[in-house]
Amino acid sequence: MFDLTATRTALTNVIALWPLLADAVGARPAGDWPPAMGISRLREPDEAGDGRPGDVRPLPISVDVFDAMTEITERLVDLADRIAADTQRPAMSHAPRTAGWPAADRERRDQLADADAADPRRWRYTGQRSAPAAAQWLAHRLSAKPGGPFAPLALQHLHQIQRAAETAADRIETLLRIARRTTATGRTHDGCGGDLMVSGGDGTDPAIDCDACGRRWTLDTTAAA
Ligand SMILES: [Zn+2]
Repeated sequence: MFDLTATRTALTNVIALWPLLADAVGARPAGDWPPAMGISRLREPDEAGDGRPGDVRPLPISVDVFDAMTEITERLVDLADRIAADTQRPAMSHAPRTAGWPAADRERRDQLADADAADPRRWRYTGQRSAPAAAQWLAHRLSAKPGGPFAPLALQHLHQIQRAAETAADRIETLLRIARRTTATGRTHDGCGGDLMVSGGDGTDPAIDCDACGRRWTLDTTAAA
């Protein structure tokens, strides 16, 4: 059964979480991630520690995350393509050049045709073919007064949107949990040669984990004060 509220929530989550995921895996210039203070201020809380593994084992960042983001994008864009093909009215045609239209009428008709083609509510088959753009367009199709050059959605469209939106939102949330704790620092642990991974970005204090021995370094807030 179609659940409008759940579908809208899933689409909203896709739109809101996608930039965070892109940031976390470095797909675009990061804002607050990786931590702006750099890793030089991260140190071991107890320099005499025994080096036992921290509570969180860092997961290796992987091309799998990018592959998954590509899959999510393709699925949402493909659904928008298909729903647009089913429901989006073609743009109004320009004035016929052969008919004996008065120049003023022809100009007016051409202006209307151009405005119709440029209607920002239309799904574009080129440019901006991203997961959040598709989610935003699908969300607009579900709004109470959708308007625009569209036929109403059929029940099958509603089910397709719900399925795609919930799947995408779930996958993004899972990827985000993985990606935000697995950004490589590009440095190695002097002690064991393992790669140092910075974690955080989810509202918790950032930390560094060695992916070989599991040793953990956390933000030294006393030194920062
Ligand atoms: Zn190590």
